[in-house]
Amino acid sequence: MADHDFGYTKWGKDWVRFAESLRQTRPDPQLPSARRAARDGKVQITIDGRTVRAVVHRGRSTAEVTIDVAPMSQGAMAEISRHLSGIQPLLTDDLYHAIAAAGHPPAPALVRVDCSCPADTPRCIHELSVYYDMARRIDDDPRIALDVQGFFRASADGTEVSVTATPQRWIALNALDPAAYFMVTE
Ligand SMILES: [Zn+2]
Repeated sequence: MADHDFGYTKWGKDWVRFAESLRQTRPDPQLPSARRAARDGKVQITIDGRTVRAVVHRGRSTAEVTIDVAPMSQGAMAEISRHLSGIQPLLTDDLYHAIAAAGHPPAPALVRVDCSCPADTPRCIHELSVYYDMARRIDDDPRIALDVQGFFRASADGTEVSVTATPQRWIALNALDPAAYFMVTE
């Protein structure tokens, strides 16, 4: 199954779900092409805060996709920070399950999805390609799943600073370079 190339971690799977909703009765016929675009490096993503910007190349045309991701829920952020116990934690599937089981699933929500192409389908192939490429990137580095939901910036603007009952730890978390903080499963 081609699907196994994308979303083999729980963190990445959330982004596959944007393309392959459980509510869909039939797979979108655009999905194989979207997966191929992601696999073949046709998607160039830059992440700026909670905004994902992507240029998707298809044939001779390019389209620009912009996705705004909602901030992670305060409950999920608090639950994740509660699991950070001084050692370098792994963003494993087990941690994901633990957070979800505590009632705070860390799955992202999308605020806005735009594409520059003229397609008037509910979801164009460029958007689908970006979901797969995000899944692929997050499988490689699950920290991206948190970063794109504002996890590492939550205290920066002060409005979300009260998310945790352990403020000392929270401040320490944000003072750290996320790249250095979480280990990545290889
Ligand atoms: Zn498009």
